[in-house]
This record gives sequence, structure tokens and C-alpha cells, in this order.
Amino acid sequence: MAFRRSLLKAGAAGAGLAAFAAGTAETGRRLVSGLAAPRPAGRAPAPEAVVDPLTGEVTPNPEQYVAQTLCQGCGAGCGLRVRVERATGRVLRVGGNPWHPLVADPPLPDATTPREALRLLSRHHETGLTYRATLCGRGAALPAQAADPGRVLTPLKRVGPRHAGRWQAISLEQLIREVVEGGDLFGEGPVAGLRALRDDAPIDPARPHLGPRANQFAWLGTAEPGRLGLVRRFVRQGFGSVNLLATDTSPSWPDIGQAAYVIVCGGGTGDSFRPMLRRLAAGRATGRLDYVVAAPVLGTFDNAAAGAHAGWLPIRPGTELALALGMIGCIIAQGRYDAEYLSRPHAAAGTASFSNATHLVICEPGHPREGSFLRASDLGHTAADEDDPCVVEDAADGTLRPATVVPRAALFVDRRVGGLRIRSSLDLLRESTQAQPLAAFAAICGVPAEALAALARDFTSHGRRAVMVPGISGTANGSLATFALMTLNTLIGNIGSPGGMLPDGDAFPAEAAGPRYDLATFPGMRVASGVVSSAVPAEWLAASLQGTPYPLGALVLWGAPPLDGTPGLRAALARDLADPKKLPLIVAIDRFADGSSAFADYIVPDSMGPESWGWAARTHTAGWPVVSPRTATSADGAPVTLESFLIGCAKALGLPGFGTAAIRDAAGAAYPLVRAADWYLRAGANIAFAAPSVPDAGDDDLWLTGLDRLRPELEATLKPGEWRKVAGVLARGGRFADPGTATAVPRQVNICHENLTCPAGVPRWVPPSFADGTALQVPYPPAQWPFLLVSQQDPVPAAGRTVLLHQDDAARLGLGSGDTVLVETPDGRMTGTAVLRAGIMRGVIALAGDDLSPGPGLRDPTRTGESLWVDPASGSVVRQGLPARVMRA
Ligand code: SF4
Repeated sequence: MAFRRSLLKAGAAGAGLAAFAAGTAETGRRLVSGLAAPRPAGRAPAPEAVVDPLTGEVTPNPEQYVAQTLCQGCGAGCGLRVRVERATGRVLRVGGNPWHPLVADPPLPDATTPREALRLLSRHHETGLTYRATLCGRGAALPAQAADPGRVLTPLKRVGPRHAGRWQAISLEQLIREVVEGGDLFGEGPVAGLRALRDDAPIDPARPHLGPRANQFAWLGTAEPGRLGLVRRFVRQGFGSVNLLATDTSPSWPDIGQAAYVIVCGGGTGDSFRPMLRRLAAGRATGRLDYVVAAPVLGTFDNAAAGAHAGWLPIRPGTELALALGMIGCIIAQGRYDAEYLSRPHAAAGTASFSNATHLVICEPGHPREGSFLRASDLGHTAADEDDPCVVEDAADGTLRPATVVPRAALFVDRRVGGLRIRSSLDLLRESTQAQPLAAFAAICGVPAEALAALARDFTSHGRRAVMVPGISGTANGSLATFALMTLNTLIGNIGSPGGMLPDGDAFPAEAAGPRYDLATFPGMRVASGVVSSAVPAEWLAASLQGTPYPLGALVLWGAPPLDGTPGLRAALARDLADPKKLPLIVAIDRFADGSSAFADYIVPDSMGPESWGWAARTHTAGWPVVSPRTATSADGAPVTLESFLIGCAKALGLPGFGTAAIRDAAGAAYPLVRAADWYLRAGANIAFAAPSVPDAGDDDLWLTGLDRLRPELEATLKPGEWRKVAGVLARGGRFADPGTATAVPRQVNICHENLTCPAGVPRWVPPSFADGTALQVPYPPAQWPFLLVSQQDPVPAAGRTVLLHQDDAARLGLGSGDTVLVETPDGRMTGTAVLRAGIMRGVIALAGDDLSPGPGLRDPTRTGESLWVDPASGSVVRQGLPARVMRA
């Protein structure tokens, strides 16, 4: 891939600089003359502090405080910097937390005090721009969303039939009483409450493997970071239901700050790593980094990808897997992998990761353990290691020995032992990628073979400072594609290496058995057992509404799932979901009464953005209510939120793990869990007291960050020696490990997964197809469905929907920008406004917008009933690469 490194010719650069100078002349004049003291323009708020540009003396604005907290706009877990008007609690501005490694480049050193931060963010010594941290548009819009006049602020109970859109305001106490005790709640007959459902009796005595009746209480949640720990304690450990389907943050992230080469495959940068945009831009601007977007659509943030140090390789939707396999094949054939890394078969001191590339797999057809790793016990070793380690071929002498004792193992092994064929994981991968020639994989993607070969060559030309970022989700083979793309990272040994792919941070235990409090276990804790309502998350509701494998009695929808953002699901389920006989009780915890929440019997309002508690596990980012939630309060004065609902229900039910003696410290003393702060501040103590020590927050830190509001709660909840350290962490918005040291134990990364059938334990080509293997094009030939439809999430939700299509396709169809167009899939139709782009592959249309729920979806024609098309490996509904056609409306 060629980059236009010389794009900025001297003349163009000169003109640009001249324009910059003209545009900033007034600022420059003020900087020189010292006139840049606060003089807010228009309706801009006064600055949070004045810093003497010569001495660096900081004079904070006493009418404001600046708090650091967690952005819950998506699962990334970025840090917010929130400026608040002290007298009113009004949010004036939000930006990125300058201590936070995801949004600041470089971040402030951990030891920086809030007052020093104000100085470093000023023009004193010109460090202000260096440490200024940025959010994506979605994060920046959170306060506006929180102030939305349509937000639900009071507990609601439906009036009339479900989904009629009529509600009455009730108290939290009434809501909890009715949800727990049940009864004739809507004049439609008796409804079983949570108390009746929390029953150890089997759901079906004839099928005891389904588990207890408690499993008929289910919880379906979103990827909102930092709040899952308390939910898990309630649903699984306290109530005893297995049916908690909620995810937290993604497991790994690219070290853009040190990478030399980045590929984003599937989705554009804007969708894949919004927090990294500044580092990406900085890397490109300095020429330190090149990046390529390999995707059907060039995202909003990637519009400059055709410029210097960047490129766009358009590929067909659902072909990311083929791209990865083609690249892997090139890399193995040409020996461009990191042999030193791959040959290391076990965790070694001083390393961040190792792979199972050399681990041997039983490949004897028909063998009962075909596809499993060969174990030491298979060779008759008495396993000193109770884990029964995998076996490798020692590179030194060809003997078969436990991986744990071999320093270097052979990479490519295909041999027999005791009549058994065994092969190394890497050998299986080589075979899988050689199943088709490079040209075939390239043709699947819709790119020249030379482009794929060049991509593989460029990717392997930077040592470990290159990274492949899987940006895909929602394709029919998306799980395998992600596996294959991550395998590219493994091949160059970049997992946990500077400039590579960094595993999630586990340096500090928050909601765990930590150094101060045990938040993982408690007396009376239940171990949930039985069968999850459906093995396929996206079909969870569909299955239970059909009584498979058993009907649900009560469901909590947390956030916006499952109808929103899942094309076709609403159409498939709306009728059943609106029928209380199919699912007697639905409680939504949400900020708005739309989407899935419109089907609820009760809505619990929730805190939002800067109002919320939370500990983002991956980044150790602290969420704390830097402003008071707008929601109503309960009888005891607590804001109505997810937490007050959970704690109130737990109290009414008498659940273990909650109440006045629920949390144990290291000495075994018991402490209460009756308020949100009891949980989150003690999790904070676990983080603050993990070695090495963190500084105490002084009174000045508390005042500058608004933590003085929280001081009574800090002192009442934590021990005298604890609270100032926890406040010190909160003042900085978290505790941020150096990304390179955030992993305490070397991770094993897998070239081959044992639980997949051999040779499918390694990535292999599987075209987008339905459940019975029928290829997409069989029932939906391109002659009738000439486009492939993808969705493109806007970083800032826009009003209405847009339909992006290539200008050549539009010309052929006689469409222009601004035309209202009809988009059809085999099972759905919707209208939108056409927007013509060059940055979209021909033959592809993209729906842009945040709410695609009523949009076209696709049933799986090879399955019966309301079955949606899902990725068979993950169960995720297929949202990308649907057959479609477009026409003027
Ligand atoms: S990517 Fe944007 S919305 Fe997501 S956490 Fe970061 S700033 Fe918030």
C-alpha cells in the first residue's frame, strides 16, 4: 500500500500555515502581551482558573470545581473532566480527563495534584495543549443527553395494556413492593413477584437440569461500563439465577501511542477506537505512524484516510475473515512471523504473553479426543503440575515434553506418536490458510491479490510495533474473523508489547477479594445453576417467549437492549413481548421510555454520565456522582437509580450479600451494603490499597474537584486511614496503570482453540451463510438483491436516518443526495435520506444513525419460527452484510 507521504508539498504547507497564522493572530497577540486573562466570549462560561503565564501561580475560580469521572457513553471506559458550577450543580463543560491514558497523550503523571493539573493545562510553559484530553462526540454530548427534557426521572408504572404508551408516576417504594410481592398489578390477573420466583424448587421436576425456579428471573443488560459487579451480586449470587446476560468492557486495546503501523479492519476508526483518535492523529501528523482502514465504509473520523500516512482498502462486508486468512497465508509462507515469540511455549519471566502456536493437537480422525491438545498424562508423565500441561516438540532434540519445561519448541510439527497423528497449532493454521490461494481470498474481499500481499508485507515491517484492530461486529462470520485478525497480532508477537495489542488491565482488584474488602464472596452466597434460557443471547427473548427451554417469569431490561440496534428483532418479537401472558413481568431500568423500555410494566429511572457510580474494570476508571442525579429520590433520600432499585429489592427479599452486615474486610469484620456508596467506595479502597501506595487527597484536592461534597459519605463509609486515599483516586478519576505493565501475569494467547473441532480449532474460511450452511446468495441472489447493507454508527447521534451509497451506484439509480429512498431487505423496509459518498464501496449501502431498530433485518430462512440470522459462533444477530436493494421512495 502506497502512502502519499509527499502530499504536503512546500507550497500547500506554506499556504496552510499562512491561513493558520491569520486565523490565530489575535490569540497570538494576546499571548505575547499577556492579555489572555479570562475574557469569555459570548455565552462561554468563565474559566475554571487563572494561571499566571510567568510564575505559574494558580488562582482557581471559587464558583466552579473540576471533577474527573467515568464516561458511560459506550464500553470504552474513557475518563471525563467535568466543570461544574458550584452553587447550582450545573455542568458547564465536559472534556477528557488529563490523567486518563485513553484520552490524553501523554496523560498527566499519577502523582500530579489537581492544582498542578490546572497549571499544566494552562499556557504556562506552553503545556496546556500537550495535556489537553479529548472525548469523542458521544461522550461530549452526555451532559446534553442528561439534560434532555424527555428523560424519565420518576419511577413509572404502565396504565392500560402493555406498550400502550401510557404511564403513571409512582414512588420507588411502591415499585419495589409490587415487583417483589406481585399480585393483581394491572387488573389483568395475578402476577408472580420476585419473592415467589426466588424458589429452589425445580422449574420442571421432570427436567431437573433446567435448574431452580429462580432461573425464571432474568436480567438482560448493556455494555455500560463499571456497574456490572453489583448487578452480578444481586442476580447470580444473591437471587441465584443463571440468567444474567450482560457484558462489560472489551478485553484488549491497541497501543496507538507507540505503534508504527495500524490496520483497522471491518469498521472505521470512529467506530472502533474513538478514544485513540488523538493519538492516531498525532502519530500520523508526525509521520511516526501509518494506518489503513480495511472496511466497506470509510467512517466519519476516517475521511482524511486518503491523506498522508493513511489509506483505505475497501473490502466487501463479511469478508474480513478472508482478508485475515490471506494475510496470514502470506506471512507464514514468507516466514514473516516472529519465530522467537511463537516458539516460546509457556509463560516466562519478564514477558507479557506467550502463545500456544507450538502446542500439539491430536489430529487422529475418529479419536475420542480429536481436536484436543496432547497432554503430559497422554505420554505417561506423572503430572507434577495438576493442570496436566500441553505437550510440545522440543526444538533442541525433537523430544515430546511438557510445554512448561521446554524453552524453545518446534513451530511446525506433523508426526505420529504411538499410532496417533499429532500436529502443532501453527501447522494447522498454515494448512487452513493454504486451503485457498491468495488470489481467491483477495477475490472474496473484492481487492487485488497484490493489495493483500502488500498489506501483509507492511504489517510485518515494523517488528512488534504494528497492530491489527478488529473493528467488526455483526457479520455472519464475525467471531471467526475477529479470531483470525487477532491471530495476526499473535503472529508478530505484539500481545502486551509496546505499540501492539494490550490485554485488559488487571493490576488493581476492584470488585474482587481485594486488599481491603472482599466484594467477591459473602456468607449465604448462592451458586447459580441450571440451563440458561437460551444459548444464543440475541434469541434470549425469542426463546423464552416461546417457552424454550422454559418460560421466564420476570425480566429486567437494563439500558436499551435488546430491540434497539438489532435489526429485525423488534418486528419479530413486538407482538409476543406486548403480551403479559408470554412474559408476565418486565421492568426496564432506563433513562428514556422508548425502544425496549416501551414494552415494560415498570420503568426505573437511572443516573446518567457524570451522575453515576462505576468502576470500569479495564481502565480502572472511577465513576462517581460529580453532580447529583436529576432523578427523583426514594423515601430515605437516595436518588432513584439502578443501585437504589437493586438495594431496595434485596432488602425487601432479604437477599444475602446485601444489608447491614454484607461486606467483610480482611480481618473478617462486617460492613453494610445499604447504599451505592457502600459498594463503590469499598471497591475504591481495594484499588487505592493495591501496591504501590497512592497519595492521600488533601483538603485542597477535595475542594478543587468537588469531592468536598462527598466527604461526609467518604468518612461515614470508609475507615479513617482509607478515605483520603480513595478520595485521591477519585480526584484523578481512577488509578491508571502504565499500559505496558497493566498485566500482572503473562497471558496465553491462542493460535488454536481446543474447544473447536479439529481442524476448525484455528481460523478457517467460512462464507456468510445460514444455520444449515446454505450460502447467503442461494436464497438471495445478487441479481435480485444487488447491494449488501451495513450499519454505520454515528459518533454523534443525528436526527433521522441517512442512507449512504457510492456516487456511481446513485448515478446508475438516478438518485441524488437528499433524495428520500426506500431500502428493502427480504424481511424489512425503511426510508431514509440518501447521502452520496466516495468513501463507500460500490455495491454497498450503509444506514447511518444511532437507532436502526425499526430497520431492515433478516430471518434465517433455513430455521423455523421467528429465528433471526445469527453468527453461529457467538449467537450475535447479523447486522452487517444483509442482502438489500434501494430505490427512490
Ligand atoms: S469512546 Fe466516547 S462515548 Fe465511549 S467512553 Fe470514550 S468518550 Fe465516552
